[in-house]
Amino acid sequence: MSNSVKYIFVTGGVTSSLGKGIIAASLAKLLQARGYTVTIQKLDPYINIDPGTLNPYEHGECYVTDDGAETDLDLGHYERFLNVPTSQANNITTGRIYQSVIEKERRGDFLGKTVQVVPHITDEIKQRIQLLSQNNKYDIVITEIGGTVGDIESLPYIEAVRQMMWEYENACLVVHLTLIPYLAAAGELKTKPTQHSVKALLELGVQPDILCCRTEHELDLNLRRKIAKFCNVSMNAVIEARDASSIYDVPLLMQSEELDSVVLDKLGLSKNSPPELKKWKTFLDRLKNPKAEVNIALIGKYVELRDSYKSISEAFIHAGVSNECKVNVHWIHSDDLDIDNVKKELSQMDGVLVAPGFGSRGVSGKIDAVQFARENLIPFLGICLGMQCAVIEFARNVLNLEDANTTEIADKTKTPVIAIMEAQKNISDKGGTMRLGAYSCELKPNSNIGRAFHSDLISERHRHRYEFNNTYLNQFEEAGMVATGTNPKTGLVEVVEIPSHPWFVGVQFHPEYKSTVAEPHPLFVAFIKASLNNKKK
Ligand code: GLN
Repeated sequence: MSNSVKYIFVTGGVTSSLGKGIIAASLAKLLQARGYTVTIQKLDPYINIDPGTLNPYEHGECYVTDDGAETDLDLGHYERFLNVPTSQANNITTGRIYQSVIEKERRGDFLGKTVQVVPHITDEIKQRIQLLSQNNKYDIVITEIGGTVGDIESLPYIEAVRQMMWEYENACLVVHLTLIPYLAAAGELKTKPTQHSVKALLELGVQPDILCCRTEHELDLNLRRKIAKFCNVSMNAVIEARDASSIYDVPLLMQSEELDSVVLDKLGLSKNSPPELKKWKTFLDRLKNPKAEVNIALIGKYVELRDSYKSISEAFIHAGVSNECKVNVHWIHSDDLDIDNVKKELSQMDGVLVAPGFGSRGVSGKIDAVQFARENLIPFLGICLGMQCAVIEFARNVLNLEDANTTEIADKTKTPVIAIMEAQKNISDKGGTMRLGAYSCELKPNSNIGRAFHSDLISERHRHRYEFNNTYLNQFEEAGMVATGTNPKTGLVEVVEIPSHPWFVGVQFHPEYKSTVAEPHPLFVAFIKASLNNKKK
């Protein structure tokens, strides 16, 4: 490991959901815009090896990296802000830490020693942090520690931070995100929870260097002075983190509070070049001044928790900016859709997106939505299960294969138009065993997807066990649903389209994971463009 690498730790206090991920990503953006190479890592204190086995209602969407890691959704924010891919090494859970320590113990690596939280677990945590700084790939590694300070399960992580602060003096910095609640009855902002939260950190031996204070109102000088005095930080290290109308405002808000400059001073790094944020500002400007709007239905079975579709809703924001229009997403529960109400729910929509998912719940509503979009020539984008539903709908209603289904929900169907992939047949473990990560896909140039990409070979990320059943391909193509993207090695169908429809695309991969502020995803851009055209008609 190189001595020149700097480590920034982001911890959270008082409550969860303060937006550590966005603060970490915003700080990283500012440092990147000053010419530093930065990566962000998330340490999650739960026992699952990764979030792949979690129900989206628990922590929202499972984000997938190019190398096939199933990760926390904060990694999506890191990629969307920095436009740099993350990997398995960027998300570590307590489960993974313990798994690795226990494997070493079984191998005899600890030479008869008693294996303990300190030093063995904390050493493993420190190694995982340092892994990212190998080969001098990054100037700065930002590590976000999940959970709230004071939680039992985050203790070993805070202890690892404490040790690193001693081992790499002057190369480590702790940013603590906290809440300054407003008591309406008293008409006052209150600093006491922050004082307590810093005390909790101090009890664990960690003095935060910078406090980012989430607040609904301005932090005036008196409050800043008070927080600085009680929490042993300098005045300029009390950073106001006001509620923002868009997460993409946060880097600029942090810049106006001089967070980047305080960080660089404290780390002894040069501030030679001010952040270059021209493109980011243009993006924000377009985001705030749309020239048109479109209404898009997002049909999924986890819509009560919108974080379940985080990357999709962010991809819509990026694609809206590209088209200079505001995308109004209408969240529609697939459980509530049926053939009787689908017209009422969808006829005002300019475009329909059917979301990914697992299991049988909500599939019938999704199929009804596909049928409505197909028959009424509404631009349609189906992602993963959404694409599979489009295939099933076409089989049932155009090919008249009434029994058509996916073997995921009807393993005895006589017409398995979607079936388990060969490589998945003998797998019984659920964790990390799907077809995961980036695979290449060959596109037909004369297709909606081909035109969207201006390229005939793309790479997109996957997360599924089932696939289009190629036995039926000829039948589908003769009837008007064609494969416009296939895996060049295996021949698996990755994209289907209906050329006689204005814009109907189903993709087996997840385009949403690769949409960033700097590079909005071409397929989302094309879908929004088609929806705008549909609206004009
Ligand atoms: N359940 C489907 C499969 O495993 C789709 C998965 C998804 O939508 N991510 O193939």
